[in-house]
Amino acid sequence: MIDLYSLNIEELTDVAKQAGEPSYRAKQLFSAFACGKTVDEITNIPGKFKEHLKENYITNVLEILETKVSKEDGTTKYLYKLFDGNIIEGVLMSYKHGNTLCVSTQVGCRMGCAFCASGLDGLVRNLSAGEILAQIVVVNKLLGGDIKSRKITNIVLMGSGEPLDNYDNTIKFLDLVNDKDGINIGLRNISLSTCGLAPKIKMLADSGYHVNLSLSLHASNDEVRHDIMPVSRSYKIEEVIDAVKYYFNKTGRRVIIEYTLIKGINDKDIHAKELARLLKGIVCLVNVIKLNEVKEKDFVSPTRKEVYDFVEKLTQNRLEATARRTMGDDIDGACGQLRKNYIKTTSSNK
Ligand code: SAH
Repeated sequence: MIDLYSLNIEELTDVAKQAGEPSYRAKQLFSAFACGKTVDEITNIPGKFKEHLKENYITNVLEILETKVSKEDGTTKYLYKLFDGNIIEGVLMSYKHGNTLCVSTQVGCRMGCAFCASGLDGLVRNLSAGEILAQIVVVNKLLGGDIKSRKITNIVLMGSGEPLDNYDNTIKFLDLVNDKDGINIGLRNISLSTCGLAPKIKMLADSGYHVNLSLSLHASNDEVRHDIMPVSRSYKIEEVIDAVKYYFNKTGRRVIIEYTLIKGINDKDIHAKELARLLKGIVCLVNVIKLNEVKEKDFVSPTRKEVYDFVEKLTQNRLEATARRTMGDDIDGACGQLRKNYIKTTSSNK
């Protein structure tokens, strides 16, 4: 069965026609879904049509299962339950300029980065475009927003999963979220983070969906990258950097290079120097992230001071670099941690 949240206005027009309803129902449905309404909550469509929709389509795409607010910084973490019982997570970060929601693109992940909790059980399944969109509209609704007054202003595709490994649904999602009859969040306010699927980065550049690109590099050479990111066996650093240059040339967008600092792995002077050589001439900002330790993994986090020292080394080597504010450390802030803990606790309670 198809989920209704994944359909654009043209496709919803076919849904309406097949049910013998006028085509203007499509816009009514699309806008109502973008406000986070369920089929039952839509007041301006006939009951008979509602029944038809509920019988023939997935209408209860996802619901918020649990909300956890960080005492340290007000970051909120959400656990969502999908229609088939799978669990995903997201994080809301509030800034002066607005609210950014971090969304997931897959249940689990098959990229297997050694320090990350999302891929501990591999990939369970891709999310549909509607399931990615629904994460945003339900939180927007929870915060009292709708499509006229948006409470979510920015989106980062940095939750569980690899967005470019779910390429078609991610593109369809960008189409839906950017639609003027929907929640209409601009591509300039959307960031996509990838572990470096080089050919897909180029495809994204050619697609015309010019979102902000973040590359999870985390290493300055292939040797270190092989140890922590299996994806580097398929795409060497040079190939990934080449794709990033291509992205910049096509879009004119400065790329963010994410560098999670892991004690004893990628934090030496030589790594800072190598990184500077690798990124020379590329319009980018290096975001140094303090590793969020994952219980199941042995990697050790550097201290805050060590993170700032590494940033300083990059700056001395003429790179533009900052330390990312870590948010939500006390609520299992890193990718996949909350879901993992939820699944563990609920299955051990059974
Ligand atoms: N698959 C995408 C997006 C999801 S992860 C990607 O790889 O970019 C978002 C970011 O968080 C990535 O840079 C990822 O490497 C990083 N990350 C994952 N686990 C982490 C942890 N335990 N501590 C710090 N950063 C982590």
